[in-house]
Amino acid sequence: MSIYICPTPIGNLEDITLRVLRVLREVDCIAAEDTRHTRKLMNHYQIHTPLVSYHEYNKEVKGDHILAMCMEGKDVALVSDAGTPGISDPGWELVRDAIDAGIDVICLPGPTALIPALLLSGFQTASFIFDGFLPRKKNDRRKYLHELEDEGRTLIFYEAPHRLLGALSDILEILGDRRICIVRELTKVHEEVFRGIVSQAIERFSMNPIRGEIVILIEGVLKPPDEESIIDRK
Ligand code: SAM
Repeated sequence: MSIYICPTPIGNLEDITLRVLRVLREVDCIAAEDTRHTRKLMNHYQIHTPLVSYHEYNKEVKGDHILAMCMEGKDVALVSDAGTPGISDPGWELVRDAIDAGIDVICLPGPTALIPALLLSGFQTASFIFDGFLPRKKNDRRKYLHELEDEGRTLIFYEAPHRLLGALSDILEILGDRRICIVRELTKVHEEVFRGIVSQAIERFSMNPIRGEIVILIEGVLKPPDEESIIDRK
């Protein structure tokens, strides 16, 4: 009948909505990125719904299977390992195919790493770019950063800890020594927020090897307010 997109905690198990817990209990099946990982959450909340796997490498076959279940009248919840499915995680293709097949899609709001990281940065929130993970290869990353040199919106990226220093050195060279925020292990015991300029971040993270999950936020280029927009707002 329906597909329910269900966000799950990004660290702290309390960060799950009452509605997500109810839906996970009531659906016929939960499609999970990693069934072993999701089982821990289910055990914690005593949820006994059957699980099927739906991940990057089986998404075509399993996606068809999930859509077929919905067309037979079943309800399926989609979860990823952490946060909102479809955000740098498998899921959006399933939503697209469900819409094309006329299946009802319900997206429940809930945790995702980029929004709390944006708020913690203190950078402007009115407009931002979230582009998932920075390109892995140095040349691709440098080319990509060059495209953002004049960007006024706040920039948000997910990054793996072992690539952080490489990314920071390219950011310094290409975007300049501007304000940056690095948010680590959000909602977990070792949550940390670094705020400073890029060169300070390099100094800080060269001393202690960085572990855990991180979000990088870079302040956009600050442009002087133009007169027209000031007049518009009056
Ligand atoms: N679907 C998730 C979401 O809604 O945010 C993102 C999944 S993506 C595969 C994993 C990346 O998200 C990590 O490498 C990290 O950049 C970011 N992330 C996830 N949990 C985090 C946390 N607790 N603290 C900081 N960053 C986190």
